[in-house]
Amino acid sequence: MEVYGGVEAGGTKFVCAIGNDAGELIKITQFPTTTPAETIGKTIAFFLEQELPLKAIGIGAFGPLDINPGSPFFGTITSTPKANWRNTNLLGSIEKGVGVPVVLDTDVNAAAFGEYCWGNARDLDTFVYLTIGTGIGGGAMVNGKLLHGLLHPEMGHIKVQRHSQDDVFNGICPYHGDCLEGLASGAALESRWGMKAEQLPADHPAWIAESFYLAQGIVHLIYILSPQRVILGGGVMHQKFLFNRIRSQVLNMLNNYIQSDKILKEIDTYIVSPSLGDEVGILGAIALAVNKFGEIIL
Ligand SMILES: [Zn+2]
Repeated sequence: MEVYGGVEAGGTKFVCAIGNDAGELIKITQFPTTTPAETIGKTIAFFLEQELPLKAIGIGAFGPLDINPGSPFFGTITSTPKANWRNTNLLGSIEKGVGVPVVLDTDVNAAAFGEYCWGNARDLDTFVYLTIGTGIGGGAMVNGKLLHGLLHPEMGHIKVQRHSQDDVFNGICPYHGDCLEGLASGAALESRWGMKAEQLPADHPAWIAESFYLAQGIVHLIYILSPQRVILGGGVMHQKFLFNRIRSQVLNMLNNYIQSDKILKEIDTYIVSPSLGDEVGILGAIALAVNKFGEIIL
């Protein structure tokens, strides 16, 4: 069995792990995201300490990222609001530091790929993975391939219609104000209500607008990508009651227009949480490496 490294490079923390080609984690660690030099230094040190020889490393990273192999800036974090991370060559520095091949994709595409290999998207070729955490982002597989396109999708920045009882909050997106991320991310909830998502009780009015916004984002994605399933991860979705509220709002908004039993009769298995749970990001990163440099054991 081959051993691979994975890095879930997040804006607040880095998770590093080694695992095998069957999706089993062997060792995992995490540390806060500080400066690029310190954080990447700790990442490289973690892999160099391992006794098992690594075949390759996969990284799922926050972005925006340049993941176009033809670009001179391939492998770098580009226009991130985290100023000291701008133009950081994540792929190149880890590849050079550890001395094994590295593959990089967005954190959400990595998570989507993890669910495709070992989770709730195993039997599908077109689906969406949306994370609702500090920010909102989405990864997609379309016809069996992760979607990149021009750069990569930015599903968190979809424009949504304001809820009638939520007209005073301007939203927190530095680029768009009240886009989906600006209104419905964990950071937006905290800014709007002065409490973190996990502290807001189920009967709090925050959740009425929250499920309305998330359902709109999902409905747009259903219309555009025709996904066979929608997987919702991230810290905000730890509030499990949100799932049923989102499902019923999605059904309302679609209004029977999409004639598929998967939605009309099986919405509980159409909009789901990641079956890899909170390990979806790190397992996805490992899955990217196995897929590119080895063979996935399903
Ligand atoms: Zn935005």
